[in-house]
Amino acid sequence: MINYKISELEAHLKSPSSTVGIHGAGLCGRQVLYALEKRGIKVHFFVDSNENKQNNLYCNIKTISAEKFTSLAPNGHLFIAHDFIMPVMEQLNKLNFKNYYNSVNLLEKTNFSDGNEYTKMYPNMTPIKLERNLKKHKYSAEIATRIINKEKNDIFNIKHMDVVITERCSLKCKDCANLMQYYERPQNSDLEILFKSLDRMMKSVDQIYEFRVLGGDPFMNKEMYRVVNKLTEYRNAEQVVVYTNAKIVPKGENLECLKNKKVRLEITNYGELSTKHDEIIAVLNKHDIPYQTDLVKLWDDIGSIKYEKKNHNQLKELFRDCCAKDIFTLFDGVVYKCPVSAHGTKLKSVPYDSKYDGVDLADENISIKELRNKLKDFHDNDKYITACSYCKGRGYGYGTIKAAIQTKKPLPIDKIQN
Ligand code: SF4
Ligand code: SF4
Repeated sequence: MINYKISELEAHLKSPSSTVGIHGAGLCGRQVLYALEKRGIKVHFFVDSNENKQNNLYCNIKTISAEKFTSLAPNGHLFIAHDFIMPVMEQLNKLNFKNYYNSVNLLEKTNFSDGNEYTKMYPNMTPIKLERNLKKHKYSAEIATRIINKEKNDIFNIKHMDVVITERCSLKCKDCANLMQYYERPQNSDLEILFKSLDRMMKSVDQIYEFRVLGGDPFMNKEMYRVVNKLTEYRNAEQVVVYTNAKIVPKGENLECLKNKKVRLEITNYGELSTKHDEIIAVLNKHDIPYQTDLVKLWDDIGSIKYEKKNHNQLKELFRDCCAKDIFTLFDGVVYKCPVSAHGTKLKSVPYDSKYDGVDLADENISIKELRNKLKDFHDNDKYITACSYCKGRGYGYGTIKAAIQTKKPLPIDKIQN
């Protein structure tokens, strides 16, 4: 059961004979734990597919695998507390486990701001972040339910889309997951192609929750405001988030565009490298521009981009476990499944197969109706892409590295032979 009302479920969950679990021993899991405990519901287990977390305590509660939870408590109740809802639903269905729920209604019906109790416990969890997490979870739940249940309705919503507006960055991180470290002559994106493809895409989808404007550093593009203004005009786009590493203080039109009520800033604070962090915060506060800032010290280790022979099952598993596989990225008129695919293609380090690896939005030979079908199929299918053969993947337990180590010169990268 994925659709429920927490008010109707509450008494049952409180029964001493009920076993309650939370799938996802992470930040969202803590939020769900808070929401359940606030209602007097005891949580017995966290469940997580990351083997490194299993058999350890998280928030003083034991973490176990889904297999163990479903065998210990076949009639138990499990709240999914992350956005990878589809694979979890598939797994629980295979295990014949019925009582699983997304956390949408529970979180929607919980007041996290009364007495600031929750934000005192987790100071990094600002109201903006709470709202964003909930919205993304809601979109993920709707999309997963539509796909798994093969719902007949023809709704096509997208959770988020990265919009690349430049290959230039004010930092040069040697392990950048967007592959900026490999560009020898980085350029700004062609706005004519970008705008044309955006118009066609927005006619093809019903709703998109979030556009994420990035590069590189989007503030390296003096015309960033044109993109932000364009994105905010789409009625079927809820929010525009501009990413920054806090190296450049926005000014002029690039500051004005941030005042639109749909816009938020996401600041990745790399400590002493983010030299303008405090100055930017002061500007945003002065103009009442919503933002979220996070100090980041560690990254997933994505390794280098290099072909490695993997068989079908290895690729399937790599893709299934990858946390970047739904970072849909619009770059040079094409929607890709992830930044490695987008930038690997541009850098000529990953071959591009138009059947599997992307959807060309700018191709006017494709009608809007056809484009909608193509996009929907590309968005919903869970198939690995060519880039996965060139990538180490970003699954749990694949290792972390120190964030934002700098390189002075662009790094070499293997090029494909034509
Ligand atoms: S700040 Fe570093 S990680 Fe971020 S886009 Fe620039 S090079 Fe990449
Ligand atoms: S494993 Fe595949 S989907 Fe994941 S980041 Fe690499 S190329 Fe992208």
